[in-house]
Amino acid sequence: MELEKYVEGRVRSVIDKHEIKGKIAVALSGGKDSAVCFYILDKFGLEVVPFHINLGIEGYSKECYEKSLALCKKLGYELEVVEGMKVNSCSMCGTVKRYIMNKFAYERGCDYLATGHNLSDLITFAFNNLASVNILNFRGMKPLLEGKPEYKMVAKIRPLYYLKDEECRAYANIKRIPYAEGKCPLARQAPTVKIKEWLHELEREKPGILLNFLKSFSKIEDKMRKEGKPNICKVCGYPAYHDVCKFCKLKSRKKN
Ligand code: AMP
Ligand code: ZN
Repeated sequence: MELEKYVEGRVRSVIDKHEIKGKIAVALSGGKDSAVCFYILDKFGLEVVPFHINLGIEGYSKECYEKSLALCKKLGYELEVVEGMKVNSCSMCGTVKRYIMNKFAYERGCDYLATGHNLSDLITFAFNNLASVNILNFRGMKPLLEGKPEYKMVAKIRPLYYLKDEECRAYANIKRIPYAEGKCPLARQAPTVKIKEWLHELEREKPGILLNFLKSFSKIEDKMRKEGKPNICKVCGYPAYHDVCKFCKLKSRKKN
């Protein structure tokens, strides 16, 4: 009971602080985090539109779809499935997912796109970017990323922003939320997997350190708020940081 209240309270604080209302597209990966995210937003009585992207990853995508579907059935929703581009690496997958998630939410006229990114994910992402001096990626380390309608960019919300991996997993288990246990075969080699293990070890030794990291990392962004304005992709008209968006570049590379 304690944990349930804690988890829901953390989500509540994000929703209330940012006054989230209206239609929310919820990206279901089949994993525990987005499942918990969806479950709690529904529990709060918010208007949610669940969807899943089929990434065609052998030995993985099928289970993800089935678990997403099972959760939607349990909560009385239809699941929309969007066919993604067939991906063969982790970084490619990230580009494809981000693109399709935004496009889906935009086309459905949603006010927000909600993802299952949690505290552990965000800090792992931050360390990984730090290691490769990807400073611009420190934009977007907040629970809410405002939308820019003129760029067809939907606002993004991360309801699990203050929650660690194990808290999300425990919540999913208590509530008997169906989720895929497997790890993506493409991600097994990714450095982020190791970084995350290391961060969790550190957190066990120094409880609270992840939250402190998050506080510091999210300040980097404020310092460069004014820079890095997005463009519109010349090919598809969705947001891009260059003339042509990363997704369209991938697509044309695949054709050639
Ligand atoms: P990941 O990039 O796998 O860490 O996932 C981060 C978030 O993106 C998840 O919590 C989901 O909200 C969303 N997501 C990941 N994969 C999918 C997918 N195949 N379909 C829909 N949403 C996804
Ligand atoms: Zn494009």
